[in-house]
Amino acid sequence: MDVDIRVHGGTIQSSTGSCRGDVLIKGEQVVGIVAWDHPVPAKSQIDATGKYVFPGLIDLHAHTRQPGYEYKEDFLTCSQAAAAGGFTAIADMPNVEPPTTIVALFEEKRKVAEKSFITDWGHLVSPTDPNEVPRFAAAGVTGFKIFQVSGGYPHDPRLAMGDPAQIYAAFSRIAKTGLHCSVHPCSQTLMDQMTADTLAAGAPHSMETFSKLYTEDVIWSSAVAVLLELQRVTGVRMQCLHTHSATSLKMIRAAKARGQRVTAAIDPKYYHLTMQDLAEQGGRAAPGGFVTEDAARMDEIWRSLNDGTIDAIDTDHAPHSLEDLEVFRKDPWHGPWGNPQYDYILSLILTDVHAKKMDLASVVRLMSESSAKLIGIYPRKGALQVGSDADLVIVDLDAEVIATDEATYTKCHWTPYRGRRLKGKPVLTMRRGEVIAKDGKVVGRPGTGRYISGVPQA
Ligand SMILES: [Zn+2]
Repeated sequence: MDVDIRVHGGTIQSSTGSCRGDVLIKGEQVVGIVAWDHPVPAKSQIDATGKYVFPGLIDLHAHTRQPGYEYKEDFLTCSQAAAAGGFTAIADMPNVEPPTTIVALFEEKRKVAEKSFITDWGHLVSPTDPNEVPRFAAAGVTGFKIFQVSGGYPHDPRLAMGDPAQIYAAFSRIAKTGLHCSVHPCSQTLMDQMTADTLAAGAPHSMETFSKLYTEDVIWSSAVAVLLELQRVTGVRMQCLHTHSATSLKMIRAAKARGQRVTAAIDPKYYHLTMQDLAEQGGRAAPGGFVTEDAARMDEIWRSLNDGTIDAIDTDHAPHSLEDLEVFRKDPWHGPWGNPQYDYILSLILTDVHAKKMDLASVVRLMSESSAKLIGIYPRKGALQVGSDADLVIVDLDAEVIATDEATYTKCHWTPYRGRRLKGKPVLTMRRGEVIAKDGKVVGRPGTGRYISGVPQA
């Protein structure tokens, strides 16, 4: 057998279990999985002794901020942070300037991104004009994204789709394409009413009041109830994002049991950032706290992560400048908030593994496999099998990490996890046979990432 690279001496982790073995790579593909002592010569060898080898991580929830907000992040810096964090493919969101609402803007964005990306990448687009949906599909988009939430940027009112009729129009057309539609659920008018009542009752106009309202269970669950019904009648493949409300999780579990084509994702800010983080770090840790304070909800989140109700841990990597967050602090209902995630998310999740909150097989399912399945590219990606792309991340489970702003690759150079002691980290990221990050240094060349179209699913 003709082999270019042998990843030797590691434990290969899949979504179902692990085995000791070497990964053999030819060009961009895995051509063999063999025992450590199997005699196959390779042109070069990468030492993974004592380490785990995962399929490359895949994230369908990046905010690259390009075009329009390049002072926060851009295609290159976003993919550098992703590569350093163990990701080999990411897809970004349409809430940029101009927002990705028509094919011409999607194609322009893709053309610019082509010169920058280190990881493989895709674009989710907004179906605010339902007539654009078939044209988007023909143009090769990765999938669609609906925002029900509407406030100030990044929850751009121009993209907000709160009316069930609007969502029905989009869902029914997307269903015909066979692509998926991610949704940020929110009963915005309910949020507005509860905000008015809460402020009228004397609550301070503060980040804490905003965060508490923003994470109220009913604001999410009442939206998810309608979305599940619209999914049922249209048959669209729907992915619910930010799924932290206990009632939503119970409804999604029941919908799955009925055979509905619904998947769910949660991003770590909803179950890792605390009230203390919000108090100490302000907007860096928003919304922060009210979810983690609620023990019954946290139980439901962990149950859902482990029983398959939640399919994906996505990042919602959402960089802002620290100056932007000052605007948020003064006016939380309209100012920008969100936090960068790529730099430390894998360490954060591996720390949960050490705490026995989930196992390594679940990490592969939640951070790689399910996203590949959602966009129809599994097992070419999301798995390490003969014939898969040679996308992998070598993980040192025992490495101690203290999160710092300085070590981040994101252009805004901060992390909401600053000061946290974490355990486990990525030490090498390979994308299609090429090392793109090693020992915390990004070595991937801009423009070597490849665009991923969503593959329609019957
Ligand atoms: Zn987001």
